[in-house]
Amino acid sequence: MGMNGGSISGRINVAIDGPAGAGKSTVARKVAEQLGYIYIDTGAMYRAVAYAAIGAGITPDDSDRLGKLVQTLKIVLAPGGEGQTVWLNGENITAAIRTREVTLIVSQIASHEPVRLKLVELQRGLADAKGIVMDGRDIGTHVLPSAEVKVFLMASVKVRALRRFQELSGNAQVPLQQLEREIAERDRSDERREISPLICAKDAEVIDSTELSIDQVVALILDLCRTKTVEAK
Ligand code: C5P
Repeated sequence: MGMNGGSISGRINVAIDGPAGAGKSTVARKVAEQLGYIYIDTGAMYRAVAYAAIGAGITPDDSDRLGKLVQTLKIVLAPGGEGQTVWLNGENITAAIRTREVTLIVSQIASHEPVRLKLVELQRGLADAKGIVMDGRDIGTHVLPSAEVKVFLMASVKVRALRRFQELSGNAQVPLQQLEREIAERDRSDERREISPLICAKDAEVIDSTELSIDQVVALILDLCRTKTVEAK
């Protein structure tokens, strides 16, 4: 044990990556809660940029203007009861970034290098102090390659679409088949983009949640964390 033996020296970072709808954010939030860590949803940051681009009338293919825009944005993630509150230049955009309008363009927005450079810098800064659970697409491979625990969470497209469908029911009436197509499309653009595509890190633990409950996935990840926390002391 080091000079400051005790719980602080055992703090680790946890990276959770995977495709859209695999349950990353729910699972990551619960893991953070259990460990007393801070949860950071990096997808929310890309969504904030997409939201700002819509407001500024910038099309999702305009890399130069998006690069300039991202430098003017102050994105703040504040831990809150239901996950986290997302602020953009002082405006609460927590609900606004979950609209279909944002969801349909966010992958293209996230494919531009100047956007990624800026957000990755922010994300690394947030993880400096350790004790972070961060979810996204490139956390284990690129943002925090030395995270002590790396998880790649996946599930079949069908199950992911069904989960989204159940989440949305009552609100937008989007047919299940359409959600399936949109999720498959977002997978494709996240996997095929040139910069930091969605791939499983070599040293990540793959968890297929197709037939697991949220609590079962959380328990698996907490087990991984326990092992690593003991090693880190
Ligand atoms: O996680 P969520 O589905 O909210 O992320 C929205 C989009 O943001 C993803 O489809 C992906 O294109 C992008 N993203 C990313 N890198 C991350 C997190 C999200 O490219 N680390």
